[in-house]
Amino acid sequence: METAFRLVSRVWALLALGIGLMAFVPGHAIADDVPTPEEYAEHVGGDAHVLQPGELKLDGRQQVCGQRPTVIDSQLDDYGAAYPGFLILNPKLLAKVSTPVKLWIFAHECGHQFRGPDEETADCFAVQRGRRQGWLDENGIEEICQFIAPAKGDSMHFAGSHRCAYMRQCFADPSIR
Ligand SMILES: [Zn+2]
Repeated sequence: METAFRLVSRVWALLALGIGLMAFVPGHAIADDVPTPEEYAEHVGGDAHVLQPGELKLDGRQQVCGQRPTVIDSQLDDYGAAYPGFLILNPKLLAKVSTPVKLWIFAHECGHQFRGPDEETADCFAVQRGRRQGWLDENGIEEICQFIAPAKGDSMHFAGSHRCAYMRQCFADPSIR
């Protein structure tokens, strides 16, 4: 019990440092370290709660990421995050952005679930999903590009303009990546 608590605490410590935000810890090797969505929600407290697959709506649109639940956490210090097995969304921050940007954020975090930790790959997954589901057009891409423009490039997140160029290319590419 105590051991399990320590392992889980370490992951949350990483989260608190921001290392886990918009990041993905791949594989089963650290499966013991990864909290369940319920454990995560209980740990952060406040209004955090778990939505089962199919329960999430963004601007009236049902959002599904396979069988992954979503934790709604208004204390998350980012718009969204991905953990192996579940997504986290901050409803307070999402309320500030347009519908295509909201859907893109969800799809990006969903991309990490199916494609792993790479940011460009998650971006590409998200815009191609938007194209396929019909909620993303050129105007929407423009809004996403403006949204990520202030993002500073670091080892995890490429500069906004670089990500944007890659997303435009992905959106135009008829083959699914
Ligand atoms: Zn990401």
